[in-house]
Amino acid sequence: MNIIKSKKKFGQHFLKDLTIAKIIVQEFDSKTEILEIGPGNGVLTNFLVEQKFDKIVAIDIDYRLIEYLKSKKRFQKIHLINNDILKIDFSNLFKNQFSIVGNLPYNISSQILFKILEYRDRIGIVVIMLQKEVADRIISSSHSKKYGILSVLIQTFFEVRKIADVDSNSFNPPPKVQSSVIKLSRNDVLNIGVEFSFFKTVVKSSFQRRRKMLRNALKNLNLQDKFHHDIFSKRAEELSSDDFIWLSKYLKN
Ligand code: SAH
Repeated sequence: MNIIKSKKKFGQHFLKDLTIAKIIVQEFDSKTEILEIGPGNGVLTNFLVEQKFDKIVAIDIDYRLIEYLKSKKRFQKIHLINNDILKIDFSNLFKNQFSIVGNLPYNISSQILFKILEYRDRIGIVVIMLQKEVADRIISSSHSKKYGILSVLIQTFFEVRKIADVDSNSFNPPPKVQSSVIKLSRNDVLNIGVEFSFFKTVVKSSFQRRRKMLRNALKNLNLQDKFHHDIFSKRAEELSSDDFIWLSKYLKN
């Protein structure tokens, strides 16, 4: 389906490789409600309708693509919505827990991941395609150069796994960067004992000055009177998610 010209500003790179599409969809149990981010011309959607999901909602910002998908009998049961994924309140879409699938628009993949984190307690499984570089950051462990804000925040609430690396030539048009499919499975951490927004601030501040010891990196929090502990001589890279949880609680109390 190349009748609809792809728009660069919407990060449109349509998947050609059907084997990859199949691999992505196979990661889900059917007994779930599912949200597809950016269905495009329906490459993944085609496989989703074959699996008996309880409910499928697909949201794309490009009305041309939504009109095209709506014209297909095959997609009659899907809730097709023309909107910006970053502006949608997910809790209005699903009553119960839901899962997420999509070949993300790469220009906003970080923003989508932060949104997924906000809705973490409603989400079961996430299988997404994104830039390999971002995928590698998400799955990397402490003491690695790639370890950063998203690694800590996501790994606090999700088991993370890479499903596949995908070559640019699997898309039309090919993106400038390599891609990966990753799977995030919600773990059982519900309460980290400190507000998520504060935890996020601590993690962000620590990594924004990642070469500095925490006592310097975290100066902007104005909590220096608390900095009497060995941990403040470490650098962000050296802390596990659990260490960051401990640190946030320590700073708050
Ligand atoms: N899933 C398709 C398309 C992936 S390209 C495939 O695999 O071929 C990314 C898709 O996300 C495009 O269809 C684009 O229109 C859509 N998109 C881009 N920005 C969006 C946004 N803010 N909200 C919802 N969809 C968006």
